[in-house]
Amino acid sequence: MYALVTGGNRGIGRAISIQLAQIGYTVIINYVSNEEAAQETMTQIRNMGGNCELLPFDVCNYQAVSNAISQWQKIHYEEYIAVLVNNAGIRRDNLLVWMEENDFEQVLRTNLFSFYNVTRPLLIPMIRHKYGRIVNIASLSGLTGLPGQCNYAAAKGGLIAATKALAKEVAKKCITVNAVAPGFIASDMTDNLNEDILKQAIPMKRFGTVQEVANLVTFLISEQASYITGECISINGGLYA
Ligand code: NDP
Repeated sequence: MYALVTGGNRGIGRAISIQLAQIGYTVIINYVSNEEAAQETMTQIRNMGGNCELLPFDVCNYQAVSNAISQWQKIHYEEYIAVLVNNAGIRRDNLLVWMEENDFEQVLRTNLFSFYNVTRPLLIPMIRHKYGRIVNIASLSGLTGLPGQCNYAAAKGGLIAATKALAKEVAKKCITVNAVAPGFIASDMTDNLNEDILKQAIPMKRFGTVQEVANLVTFLISEQASYITGECISINGGLYA
């Protein structure tokens, strides 16, 4: 079975790609620019005996996504992508008074419009096969709002709402749609944050790891999670407020 992980080349996406390969999926690793990280992830998966392919495209660009997926489908005409993890994302933090229009727009495009661009072309094959698993990587910011993140909070909040709506649309076709909302996770995205200060506010007194997020995603796509849909599960070391 095939699983597509957007932004699967590094960070949280890489950990998810590796775990899905470990449990037997052929993982389609998407990325937009960091080819080197994608090659590294592919090597890691192949070295442990797993299967994967690279499928670069910009999740913001509907036409590019659609072309890449239909090319893939042409080559794999007897297969379909049963698992989709919408993970690709960016931050462009600033207080709203200083935020440039482009930073608002790009964050919405990458974190929310991507949901439409990538999910839509994969839905019909999932519906036809009466099986699918979709996991959207949201954020604590989308649940509570964080200052400096009006763009990111709006995108992730929208993603959580879209998760709930789509879950109801496709539940009878045995397709589950869930979101996970990480707090602070150590990755390139949080590299410029001061972990020593921020961790004081986290009840567990540490950032999470990419593996911990991957564990949750792996559970949500598993048979054990077959009756969970339309849910957003937090993974944040107790940091809810
Ligand atoms: P990273 O910055 O480490 O990685 C971002 C990933 O997204 C890269 O694989 C990147 O590809 C990909 N990407 C960015 N823009 C595009 C695009 N236009 N098209 C395709 N791929 C794209 O982030 P994390 O691993 O930390 O984050 C992964 C997800 O988790 C994101 O959605 C993020 O918002 C969310 N999240 C992260 C948290 C954290 O604390 N780290 C907390 C809450 C949520 P490339 O390498 O080619 O640029």
